[in-house]
Amino acid sequence: MRDCIFCKIVAGQIPCDRVAETDRVLAFRDINPAAPVHVLVIPKEHVADSAGDVAPEHGELLAEILAVAAGVAGSEGVDDGWRLVSNVGANAGQTVFHLHFHMMGGWAEPKTSL
Ligand code: 5GP
Ligand code: ZN
Repeated sequence: MRDCIFCKIVAGQIPCDRVAETDRVLAFRDINPAAPVHVLVIPKEHVADSAGDVAPEHGELLAEILAVAAGVAGSEGVDDGWRLVSNVGANAGQTVFHLHFHMMGGWAEPKTSL
């Protein structure tokens, strides 16, 4: 097992607040939320360190990740507006080097820009 926080969460070695799951994808609440709804959507398998390492062979898995993110937006009641963010590299703020997407929403006011 590699020394990766998200691999340990998938393995059940670190607890998480799970909101959705498929055979290949896990969604759980961010421990330090940056939005009223902030859920991390990750592949269970450590297929890439970041979105910068994704390859064509990951196409179906990526589609599944997006579908889970959309489903969570619905179940969390934020499907009127949500963001999907993936930080690539420490300079962009990436701190966990296991491919993941931040699904965020639930703001009181509409967002006008990044
Ligand atoms: P990054 O900064 O790499 O884009 O995102 C990593 C995210 O993982 C951060 O928002 C951080 O709060 C979250 N995080 C780090 N460790 C844990 C943990 O043990 N459990 C949960 N649920 N989230 C974590
Ligand atoms: Zn990992």
